[in-house]
Amino acid sequence: DHSARGEARDKQQIASAKLNKSLSVAVVGAGAGGIAATRELLKEGHRVVVFEQEIDGLGGVWRFSHRTEDEDPLGLSSDRSAIHSSMYLGLRTNLPREIMGFLDFPFLPKYGDSSRDARRYPGHVEVLDYLEDYAVHFGLLPCIRFGRRVTRVCMHARPKTRDDALIAPDCSNSGGCQWSVTTVAERDCKDCTTDMFDAVVVCNGHYFQPKLAPIPGIEEWPGIRLHSHNYRVPDPFADQVVVVIGNSSSGSDISREIATVAKAVHLVGRTWDSDVDLQKPAGPKQNISLHPMVKSAHEDGKLVFENGDSVIADVILYCTGYAYSMPFLQTEEIVNVNADYVGPLYQHVFPPRLAPTLSFVGLPFKVIPFPLMQLQSRWIAQSLSGKVTLPSEEQMLKDSLEFYERLDARGIPTNKIHDMGSYQFEYDNWLAAACDSSPIEPWRIQIYNNSSKRKRASPDTYRDEWSDQELHDLAIAELQQLQI
Ligand code: FAD
Repeated sequence: DHSARGEARDKQQIASAKLNKSLSVAVVGAGAGGIAATRELLKEGHRVVVFEQEIDGLGGVWRFSHRTEDEDPLGLSSDRSAIHSSMYLGLRTNLPREIMGFLDFPFLPKYGDSSRDARRYPGHVEVLDYLEDYAVHFGLLPCIRFGRRVTRVCMHARPKTRDDALIAPDCSNSGGCQWSVTTVAERDCKDCTTDMFDAVVVCNGHYFQPKLAPIPGIEEWPGIRLHSHNYRVPDPFADQVVVVIGNSSSGSDISREIATVAKAVHLVGRTWDSDVDLQKPAGPKQNISLHPMVKSAHEDGKLVFENGDSVIADVILYCTGYAYSMPFLQTEEIVNVNADYVGPLYQHVFPPRLAPTLSFVGLPFKVIPFPLMQLQSRWIAQSLSGKVTLPSEEQMLKDSLEFYERLDARGIPTNKIHDMGSYQFEYDNWLAAACDSSPIEPWRIQIYNNSSKRKRASPDTYRDEWSDQELHDLAIAELQQLQI
């Protein structure tokens, strides 16, 4: 009996050792996604190296810089010396802080510290401070190699036998994948190194490669054109007639900033909510004109809108979004990265043929990004350690292809594949269940819905006026209870 119990215990120990496989993992990028991934990977016992191209620090999008890509303000050339962050000086968050923060590290106001911004919708500096607090609190900084840009991530079959090593890589037929990660120092392009890892988590962000809306005749149009990626402050637009193309978050906010100094601002949208009256000017000073899309551009500076109206403008500012871009990724075409999406991916995270050793954090949009990226990261970390078992490759592929087919059947274009507007919380809770975590708090969902409605109805005031104070207080009280 005694030896049987011993044997059972041994078996249990072997099983739990297997459960806690510790892998070497490379993380590309130290934005919010990269640090969430690092924290979850370390918690699960993995060894992590984060490669971050920025020399100055972590935070990605939230690390504001006045620098712009002046020689290529539309971001057309892939050879340009690109700047990562699209942050502008006046930006305040478009989500209330209590729902925006990571699930177990509340984004609470630091009232005692006068250098901090305690507003419910704080400015971008407060978000960067919060991300830095998070990295310090969880001891992440020693993992990060700053100033190292990833230029190549390449898979290699881990040979089962010596003969297999001579055969071209095909991870599904071998002992799994290994990954080489090549990086170059930002300060010295001759300083190039390659390291091997068991797994790679890609967290390089998707708000840095501008996407433009085509306009017939634009080559002849004489004015200045730039993308919101290169917008920082309104001052250069003083006394100008500016046409802002794109009416989602950036277009709506930036047109309001520019309207404080410009001669006139014209905000153009492909679609408008049915209750928006295009005849009525918008903005705090009611000096922003609203229009349908631009139909054509002309040599004399004229822009003609789809309803036949026209304007002579000095500047076109494209707030038309960003393309996915991962020029470093080499997977023998197993993963397709294009401007609209990355795929095929199981649940927006794992390429079925390369799971779990290659994964992506933070591809979905129209979401609350930090909690979502945290849950994705936990699922990845646990899949790598063996605590979570993923479905078979065939099943994951079938699942992802069926997902694309469903979107296609509903006429949803490929640039909406990672648009999670209508089901982000369902997705979050699916991830939470997959890695034994608590579901999203009901107040987070309610506050998100309230805030989205207010943002649409009152874009000039929603950050400073609200009617869900009780819910806000409840959230803060609950977050204050968390032991961190
Ligand atoms: P990023 O923050 O872009 O980080 C990616 C990191 O990867 C960067 O540090 C970059 O330098 C690094 N990197 C990229 N390529 C390489 C490479 N080849 N080698 C090494 N390092 C590399 N979210 C909110 O929750 N609330 C908001 O109010 C909000 N407002 C926003 C406003 C703007 C203008 C923008 C652009 C985004 C906003 N977001 C907001 C979304 C924001 O993108 C996410 O909150 C989040 O910061 C995304 O984190 P990330 O890590 O995925 O990407």
